[in-house]
Amino acid sequence: MLGAVFRGPGRLEVGEMETPEIGPDEVLVKVGANTVCGTDVRILRGEKTRGIGRDVVLGHELAGHVAEAGRNVRGYEVGAPVALAPAISCLRCFYCRRGMENVCVNKRIVGNVVDGGLAEYVRVPAEAVQAGNLFVAERDLPSEYLALAEPLACCVRGLENYRVELDDVVLVMGAGPIGLFHLQLALLAGARTVIVSNRSEERRAFARELGASVTVDPTSEDLSEVVAEHTHGLGVDVAVVCIGVASLVNDALGLARKGGRVNLFAGFAGEGVAEVEANLIHYNELVVSGASDTRRADYETALRLIESGRIEVESMVTHRFPLGEAAEAIEASARREGIKVAVVP
Ligand SMILES: [Zn+2]
Ligand SMILES: [Zn+2]
Repeated sequence: MLGAVFRGPGRLEVGEMETPEIGPDEVLVKVGANTVCGTDVRILRGEKTRGIGRDVVLGHELAGHVAEAGRNVRGYEVGAPVALAPAISCLRCFYCRRGMENVCVNKRIVGNVVDGGLAEYVRVPAEAVQAGNLFVAERDLPSEYLALAEPLACCVRGLENYRVELDDVVLVMGAGPIGLFHLQLALLAGARTVIVSNRSEERRAFARELGASVTVDPTSEDLSEVVAEHTHGLGVDVAVVCIGVASLVNDALGLARKGGRVNLFAGFAGEGVAEVEANLIHYNELVVSGASDTRRADYETALRLIESGRIEVESMVTHRFPLGEAAEAIEASARREGIKVAVVP
């Protein structure tokens, strides 16, 4: 089969490799699509090295169809549409025991250390099959839509941390795929107004299309004025930072109302050191939260939201590349072309 193997920074080798053989407790998935994300870009650039294996097939946002199920495996018929939650948690560590498998200390991620979705086939390891990481889709939608359950699941996890209440005014900083998911989730959760800020007019147009009440170009408009206008000068109930620029953290703190919630959803570049006016948190009683990866439950929620059409994904997949052009696909994603890039074998 064809596969895209990470050989080290800057080196993605697309070539023939052995089709994986599965054990009696494993499932072989014929990949229908693998969507590319910022993490793949950072891995390939050598910016993300922790938890990344060498000579591994990249790709952690994948969906496809069951090609073969091991003889001990139940519940996966050949041909069934499936989507994979790529984080394989140990289910035994301190965090797993407390419902925080997303931050499992022994986590292994398909596409980082276990061969992933930038290939024609992917072997789902026994522990992932057993833990239910491989979800059977209720609708056989194009795989590139189902694959988006992974990034959406991370946003669902974030939403659990920052919460949106009925009639909230929410500010989403960033209108890449992640920002657009937070926008849609906030609306689903009952937000009255969602303000989206982004430099790119193309992305702001996407945000408006997906229901943003207001979009702001922070390079030419005063975001705090727009926020004041829509909140009677109080500030937003929730601000979600979806751009990994540390200086935005203090901006977000300053734009939230007293008692508001600020979620640092993005991972921040480099060491991620941000200078913040700590008294904003203190006097305004702000609640600051983070978000890391996703739990199986979040993944299932995300998958159902996509299948039922409550989260719009069709328009978000703007680019499709064949597997032979996986490197070009990652480069296109790095250039922030369109919204989401899919590799379709
Ligand atoms: Zn991702
Ligand atoms: Zn664990």
